[in-house]
Amino acid sequence: MVAGGAGFVGSHLVDALLAAGESVVVLDNLCTGRRENLEPALATGRCTLVEADISDGLPPLDTCQTVWHLASPASPPDYGRLPIETLRVGAEGTRHLLEAAHRWQARFLVASTSEVYGDPQVHPQPETYWGHVNPIGWRSCYDEAKRYAEALTMAYHRAHGVDTRIVRIFNTYGPRMRADDGRVVSNFLCQALAGKPLTLYGTGDQTRSFQYVSDLVAGLLAWMDRGDALPANLGNPGEFTIRELADAVDALLGRPAERAWHPLPPDDPRQRKPDIDRARTLVGWQPVVPLAEGLARTAEWFRHATGRPA
Ligand code: UDP
Repeated sequence: MVAGGAGFVGSHLVDALLAAGESVVVLDNLCTGRRENLEPALATGRCTLVEADISDGLPPLDTCQTVWHLASPASPPDYGRLPIETLRVGAEGTRHLLEAAHRWQARFLVASTSEVYGDPQVHPQPETYWGHVNPIGWRSCYDEAKRYAEALTMAYHRAHGVDTRIVRIFNTYGPRMRADDGRVVSNFLCQALAGKPLTLYGTGDQTRSFQYVSDLVAGLLAWMDRGDALPANLGNPGEFTIRELADAVDALLGRPAERAWHPLPPDDPRQRKPDIDRARTLVGWQPVVPLAEGLARTAEWFRHATGRPA
Protein backbone atom coordinates (compact mmCIF):
# COMPACT_ATOMS: atom_id res chain seq x y z
CA MET A 1 0.00 0.00 0.00
CA VAL A 2 1.27 3.44 -0.88
CA ALA A 3 -0.49 6.26 0.96
CA GLY A 4 0.10 9.43 -1.03
CA GLY A 5 0.83 7.39 -4.13
CA ALA A 6 -0.74 9.94 -6.49
CA GLY A 7 1.78 12.58 -5.44
CA PHE A 8 5.07 13.59 -7.02
CA VAL A 9 7.33 11.17 -5.11
CA GLY A 10 4.64 8.59 -4.36
CA SER A 11 3.77 8.02 -8.01
CA HIS A 12 7.42 7.38 -8.93
CA LEU A 13 7.63 4.89 -6.07
CA VAL A 14 4.47 3.16 -7.34
CA ASP A 15 6.01 2.87 -10.83
CA ALA A 16 9.14 1.28 -9.34
CA LEU A 17 7.13 -1.21 -7.24
CA LEU A 18 5.11 -2.22 -10.31
CA ALA A 19 8.31 -2.61 -12.33
CA ALA A 20 9.54 -4.98 -9.60
CA GLY A 21 6.43 -7.12 -10.13
CA GLU A 22 4.38 -5.97 -7.11
CA SER A 23 0.69 -5.14 -7.03
CA VAL A 24 -0.07 -1.79 -5.41
CA VAL A 25 -3.05 -0.17 -3.76
CA VAL A 26 -2.78 3.61 -3.59
CA LEU A 27 -4.65 5.65 -0.99
CA ASP A 28 -4.78 9.34 -1.78
CA ASN A 29 -7.25 12.16 -1.12
CA LEU A 30 -5.82 14.09 -4.11
CA CYS A 31 -5.40 17.28 -2.06
CA THR A 32 -2.00 17.82 -3.69
CA GLY A 33 -1.62 14.58 -5.68
CA ARG A 34 -3.06 14.06 -9.16
CA ARG A 35 -4.74 11.12 -10.83
CA GLU A 36 -2.74 11.70 -14.03
CA ASN A 37 0.51 10.93 -12.14
CA LEU A 38 -0.80 7.36 -11.89
CA GLU A 39 -1.88 6.94 -15.51
CA PRO A 40 1.05 4.62 -16.43
CA ALA A 41 0.57 2.70 -13.17
CA LEU A 42 -3.19 2.26 -13.62
CA ALA A 43 -2.62 1.08 -17.20
CA THR A 44 -0.68 -1.96 -15.90
CA GLY A 45 -3.83 -3.36 -14.29
CA ARG A 46 -1.86 -4.06 -11.07
CA CYS A 47 -2.48 -0.70 -9.40
CA THR A 48 -5.71 0.43 -7.73
CA LEU A 49 -6.37 4.00 -6.67
CA VAL A 50 -8.67 4.40 -3.67
CA GLU A 51 -9.66 8.01 -3.06
CA ALA A 52 -9.64 8.25 0.72
CA ASP A 53 -8.35 10.52 3.47
CA ILE A 54 -6.16 8.44 5.80
CA SER A 55 -6.63 11.09 8.51
CA ASP A 56 -10.27 9.93 8.83
CA GLY A 57 -9.45 6.21 8.87
CA LEU A 58 -8.77 3.49 6.32
CA PRO A 59 -11.36 2.00 3.95
CA PRO A 60 -11.76 -1.81 4.01
CA LEU A 61 -8.65 -3.31 2.40
CA ASP A 62 -7.07 -6.70 1.81
CA THR A 63 -3.92 -7.44 3.79
CA CYS A 64 -0.83 -5.66 2.42
CA GLN A 65 2.76 -6.81 2.94
CA THR A 66 4.28 -3.34 3.04
CA VAL A 67 2.87 0.05 3.98
CA TRP A 68 4.51 3.18 2.56
CA HIS A 69 3.42 6.46 4.14
CA LEU A 70 4.09 9.29 1.70
CA ALA A 71 0.81 11.12 2.30
CA SER A 72 1.25 14.81 3.16
CA PRO A 73 1.35 18.22 1.58
CA ALA A 74 5.11 18.79 1.23
CA SER A 75 5.86 22.11 -0.45
CA PRO A 76 5.91 25.20 1.80
CA PRO A 77 3.03 26.95 -0.04
CA ASP A 78 0.95 23.74 0.13
CA TYR A 79 1.36 23.12 3.84
CA GLY A 80 1.04 26.86 4.49
CA ARG A 81 -2.40 26.71 2.85
CA LEU A 82 -3.33 23.35 4.48
CA PRO A 83 -1.82 23.58 8.00
CA ILE A 84 -4.49 21.61 9.88
CA GLU A 85 -4.70 18.91 7.19
CA THR A 86 -0.89 18.62 7.34
CA LEU A 87 -0.89 18.15 11.13
CA ARG A 88 -3.78 15.67 10.94
CA VAL A 89 -2.17 13.47 8.30
CA GLY A 90 1.11 13.42 10.25
CA ALA A 91 -0.75 12.48 13.44
CA GLU A 92 -4.05 10.66 12.70
CA GLY A 93 -3.01 9.46 9.25
CA THR A 94 0.22 7.99 10.59
CA ARG A 95 -1.65 6.30 13.47
CA HIS A 96 -4.18 4.68 11.13
CA LEU A 97 -1.42 3.32 8.88
CA LEU A 98 0.64 2.05 11.83
CA GLU A 99 -2.46 0.28 13.23
CA ALA A 100 -2.96 -1.41 9.84
CA ALA A 101 0.72 -2.41 9.63
CA HIS A 102 0.48 -3.85 13.16
CA ARG A 103 -2.67 -5.82 12.27
CA TRP A 104 -1.23 -7.11 9.00
CA GLN A 105 2.28 -7.71 10.40
CA ALA A 106 3.43 -5.58 7.48
CA ARG A 107 6.63 -3.59 7.21
CA PHE A 108 5.99 0.17 7.48
CA LEU A 109 7.96 3.15 6.15
CA VAL A 110 7.21 6.78 6.90
CA ALA A 111 8.53 9.61 4.71
CA SER A 112 9.90 12.15 7.16
CA THR A 113 11.85 15.23 6.17
CA SER A 114 14.99 17.30 6.53
CA GLU A 115 12.60 19.85 8.07
CA VAL A 116 12.86 17.93 11.36
CA TYR A 117 16.27 19.65 11.62
CA GLY A 118 14.58 23.09 11.28
CA ASP A 119 17.09 25.90 10.71
CA PRO A 120 20.04 23.65 11.54
CA GLN A 121 22.93 24.74 13.74
CA VAL A 122 24.92 21.64 12.83
CA HIS A 123 26.16 21.32 9.27
CA PRO A 124 25.91 18.94 7.44
CA GLN A 125 23.06 17.27 9.27
CA PRO A 126 23.58 13.71 10.62
CA GLU A 127 20.60 11.73 11.89
CA THR A 128 21.91 12.14 15.46
CA TYR A 129 21.23 15.91 15.33
CA TRP A 130 17.97 16.73 17.17
CA GLY A 131 17.22 19.87 15.21
CA HIS A 132 16.36 23.53 15.72
CA VAL A 133 12.66 23.93 14.98
CA ASN A 134 10.38 26.87 15.78
CA PRO A 135 7.35 25.05 17.22
CA ILE A 136 4.93 27.91 16.50
CA GLY A 137 6.35 29.24 13.22
CA TRP A 138 4.39 28.96 9.99
CA ARG A 139 6.49 25.92 8.94
CA SER A 140 5.75 24.19 12.26
CA CYS A 141 2.61 22.47 10.94
CA TYR A 142 4.88 20.41 8.69
CA ASP A 143 7.97 20.14 10.89
CA GLU A 144 6.08 19.11 14.02
CA ALA A 145 3.73 16.79 12.12
CA LYS A 146 6.74 14.91 10.82
CA ARG A 147 8.50 14.94 14.20
CA TYR A 148 5.32 13.52 15.78
CA ALA A 149 5.05 10.93 12.98
CA GLU A 150 8.61 9.82 13.74
CA ALA A 151 7.87 9.61 17.48
CA LEU A 152 4.67 7.61 16.86
CA THR A 153 6.52 5.26 14.52
CA MET A 154 9.20 4.60 17.14
CA ALA A 155 6.45 4.06 19.75
CA TYR A 156 4.73 1.39 17.62
CA HIS A 157 8.11 -0.20 16.98
CA ARG A 158 9.00 -0.30 20.67
CA ALA A 159 5.56 -1.05 22.13
CA HIS A 160 4.21 -3.45 19.47
CA GLY A 161 7.31 -4.66 17.63
CA VAL A 162 6.12 -3.25 14.29
CA ASP A 163 8.89 -3.51 11.67
CA THR A 164 9.32 0.18 10.89
CA ARG A 165 11.49 2.49 8.79
CA ILE A 166 11.90 6.28 8.97
CA VAL A 167 13.52 8.21 6.12
CA ARG A 168 14.27 11.94 6.25
CA ILE A 169 13.93 13.20 2.71
CA PHE A 170 15.89 16.28 1.60
CA ASN A 171 14.80 18.60 -1.24
CA THR A 172 13.77 16.42 -4.17
CA TYR A 173 12.85 17.42 -7.70
CA GLY A 174 11.93 15.85 -11.02
CA PRO A 175 9.10 15.15 -13.43
CA ARG A 176 5.55 15.33 -11.98
CA MET A 177 6.30 18.22 -9.67
CA ARG A 178 3.34 20.57 -10.01
CA ALA A 179 4.25 23.74 -11.92
CA ASP A 180 2.39 25.71 -9.23
CA ASP A 181 3.65 23.92 -6.13
CA GLY A 182 5.90 26.85 -5.31
CA ARG A 183 9.16 25.03 -4.73
CA VAL A 184 12.31 26.59 -6.02
CA VAL A 185 13.19 24.08 -8.77
CA SER A 186 9.72 24.04 -10.31
CA ASN A 187 9.44 27.82 -9.99
CA PHE A 188 12.80 28.50 -11.65
CA LEU A 189 12.32 26.02 -14.49
CA CYS A 190 8.78 27.17 -15.30
CA GLN A 191 9.78 30.83 -15.05
CA ALA A 192 12.81 30.32 -17.30
CA LEU A 193 10.83 28.33 -19.87
CA ALA A 194 8.22 31.10 -19.96
CA GLY A 195 10.91 33.80 -20.41
CA LYS A 196 10.03 35.34 -17.03
CA PRO A 197 12.40 36.52 -14.28
CA LEU A 198 13.53 33.97 -11.68
CA THR A 199 12.10 34.78 -8.24
CA LEU A 200 14.88 34.76 -5.62
CA TYR A 201 13.88 35.03 -1.96
CA GLY A 202 16.19 36.92 0.39
CA THR A 203 19.81 37.28 -0.74
CA GLY A 204 19.78 33.90 -2.52
CA ASP A 205 22.78 32.86 -0.38
CA GLN A 206 20.81 30.23 1.54
CA THR A 207 21.75 26.69 0.53
CA ARG A 208 19.90 23.50 -0.32
CA SER A 209 20.94 20.05 -1.54
CA PHE A 210 18.86 18.90 -4.49
CA GLN A 211 18.12 15.24 -5.09
CA TYR A 212 16.72 13.85 -8.34
CA VAL A 213 13.61 11.76 -7.79
CA SER A 214 14.97 8.48 -9.22
CA ASP A 215 17.81 8.60 -6.66
CA LEU A 216 15.27 9.04 -3.88
CA VAL A 217 13.16 6.11 -5.10
CA ALA A 218 16.26 3.88 -5.19
CA GLY A 219 16.98 4.95 -1.61
CA LEU A 220 13.41 4.28 -0.47
CA LEU A 221 13.45 0.76 -1.92
CA ALA A 222 16.89 -0.03 -0.47
CA TRP A 223 16.03 1.32 2.98
CA MET A 224 12.68 -0.51 3.14
CA ASP A 225 14.45 -3.71 2.11
CA ARG A 226 17.65 -3.63 4.15
CA GLY A 227 17.52 -0.62 6.50
CA ASP A 228 16.78 -0.56 10.23
CA ALA A 229 14.28 1.20 12.49
CA LEU A 230 16.35 4.30 13.21
CA PRO A 231 16.02 7.29 10.84
CA ALA A 232 18.07 7.58 7.66
CA ASN A 233 18.74 10.72 5.64
CA LEU A 234 17.98 10.40 1.92
CA GLY A 235 19.35 13.35 0.00
CA ASN A 236 22.07 14.47 -2.36
CA PRO A 237 25.03 15.92 -0.43
CA GLY A 238 25.83 18.36 -3.28
CA GLU A 239 25.09 21.78 -1.73
CA PHE A 240 24.15 24.87 -3.77
CA THR A 241 23.13 28.41 -2.97
CA ILE A 242 19.85 29.46 -4.53
CA ARG A 243 21.86 31.91 -6.68
CA GLU A 244 23.90 28.96 -7.96
CA LEU A 245 20.70 27.07 -8.74
CA ALA A 246 19.49 30.07 -10.77
CA ASP A 247 22.83 30.10 -12.63
CA ALA A 248 22.46 26.37 -13.36
CA VAL A 249 19.02 27.04 -14.88
CA ASP A 250 20.53 29.83 -17.03
CA ALA A 251 23.27 27.46 -18.21
CA LEU A 252 20.73 24.78 -19.05
CA LEU A 253 18.58 27.03 -21.22
CA GLY A 254 21.60 28.81 -22.70
CA ARG A 255 20.25 32.26 -21.91
CA PRO A 256 20.39 34.32 -18.71
CA ALA A 257 17.01 35.02 -17.15
CA GLU A 258 16.36 38.21 -15.22
CA ARG A 259 16.17 38.04 -11.43
CA ALA A 260 13.22 39.25 -9.36
CA TRP A 261 14.11 39.67 -5.67
CA HIS A 262 11.51 38.96 -2.97
CA PRO A 263 11.70 38.96 0.84
CA LEU A 264 12.87 35.78 2.53
CA PRO A 265 9.92 33.91 4.08
CA PRO A 266 10.13 33.68 7.91
CA ASP A 267 12.04 30.72 9.39
CA ASP A 268 13.53 29.84 6.00
CA PRO A 269 16.48 27.54 6.84
CA ARG A 270 19.82 29.17 6.00
CA GLN A 271 21.57 25.97 5.01
CA ARG A 272 20.81 22.32 4.45
CA LYS A 273 22.99 19.38 3.46
CA PRO A 274 22.53 15.74 4.39
CA ASP A 275 25.14 13.52 5.95
CA ILE A 276 24.28 10.25 4.16
CA ASP A 277 26.89 7.97 5.76
CA ARG A 278 24.23 5.84 7.43
CA ALA A 279 22.35 4.97 4.23
CA ARG A 280 25.62 4.54 2.36
CA THR A 281 27.08 2.18 4.96
CA LEU A 282 23.98 0.16 5.85
CA VAL A 283 22.34 -0.32 2.44
CA GLY A 284 25.01 0.82 -0.04
CA TRP A 285 22.88 3.66 -1.39
CA GLN A 286 24.05 7.00 -2.75
CA PRO A 287 22.64 9.42 -5.34
CA VAL A 288 24.04 9.24 -8.86
CA VAL A 289 22.22 11.91 -10.90
CA PRO A 290 24.13 15.23 -11.09
CA LEU A 291 22.17 18.47 -10.77
CA ALA A 292 22.68 19.55 -14.41
CA GLU A 293 21.37 16.23 -15.70
CA GLY A 294 18.40 16.12 -13.34
CA LEU A 295 17.49 19.71 -14.20
CA ALA A 296 17.66 18.90 -17.93
CA ARG A 297 15.30 15.91 -17.52
CA THR A 298 12.91 17.96 -15.41
CA ALA A 299 12.94 20.90 -17.83
CA GLU A 300 12.18 18.51 -20.67
CA TRP A 301 9.20 17.18 -18.73
CA PHE A 302 7.90 20.69 -17.94
CA ARG A 303 8.20 21.63 -21.63
CA HIS A 304 5.82 18.84 -22.56
CA ALA A 305 3.65 19.21 -19.47
CA THR A 306 3.10 22.88 -20.17
CA GLY A 307 2.96 22.49 -23.94
CA ARG A 308 5.76 24.98 -24.54
CA PRO A 309 8.10 24.46 -27.49
CA ALA A 310 11.55 23.02 -26.70
N1 UDP B 1 13.06 30.02 -3.02
C1 UDP B 1 13.40 31.04 -3.88
N2 UDP B 1 12.57 31.32 -4.94
C2 UDP B 1 11.44 30.59 -5.19
C3 UDP B 1 11.10 29.54 -4.31
C4 UDP B 1 11.93 29.28 -3.23
O1 UDP B 1 14.42 31.73 -3.70
O2 UDP B 1 10.75 30.90 -6.17
C5 UDP B 1 13.98 29.68 -1.91
C6 UDP B 1 13.31 29.48 -0.55
O3 UDP B 1 13.21 30.69 0.15
C7 UDP B 1 14.27 28.48 0.10
C8 UDP B 1 14.80 27.67 -1.06
O4 UDP B 1 14.57 28.43 -2.23
O5 UDP B 1 15.34 29.16 0.71
C9 UDP B 1 14.14 26.31 -1.21
O6 UDP B 1 12.74 26.52 -1.19
P1 UDP B 1 11.71 25.35 -1.44
O7 UDP B 1 10.34 25.93 -1.25
O8 UDP B 1 11.99 24.67 -2.73
O9 UDP B 1 11.99 24.26 -0.29
P2 UDP B 1 12.35 24.33 1.27
O10 UDP B 1 13.71 23.75 1.34
O11 UDP B 1 12.34 25.77 1.73
O12 UDP B 1 11.31 23.52 1.93
